[in-house]
Amino acid sequence: MNKADCIFCKIIAGVIPSTKIYENDKVLGFKDLSPHAAKHLLFIHKRHTTNVNQLTETDPQQLTDLFRAMREYTKDSKMDQEGFRIVTNEGSFGGQTVFHTHFHLLGGEPLGRFGK
Ligand code: AMP
Ligand code: ZN
Repeated sequence: MNKADCIFCKIIAGVIPSTKIYENDKVLGFKDLSPHAAKHLLFIHKRHTTNVNQLTETDPQQLTDLFRAMREYTKDSKMDQEGFRIVTNEGSFGGQTVFHTHFHLLGGEPLGRFGK
């Protein structure tokens, strides 16, 4: 997908609205539009990559930036006290629908097992 057509780049640019819950100079966290848990947040890097494999190949520092941001958020919001799940979907079988690398942060209630 072209960066100019990327819905998450448009959220970063403020062209598409979002409910932001975390931001620093590199990372943005916002609420997922279609939540799959009591708390369902998305964390994205402000530099566009398509998926986690491409990110790891071209800009692995982004992984640290993203996981630091999620650590900070889960500590500050006390989500770390109850626990949470971090998920990334890649490609067709993984169920990826937005092609800007993102991590789902899920919690706020006990979560079921995952898979099919
Ligand atoms: P994935 O299916 O793993 O690519 O995840 C994409 C996620 O983005 C889905 O959970 C969608 O509900 C979510 N999503 C799509 N558009 C928006 C939007 N404009 N604001 C917030 N979340 C969105
Ligand atoms: Zn993008």
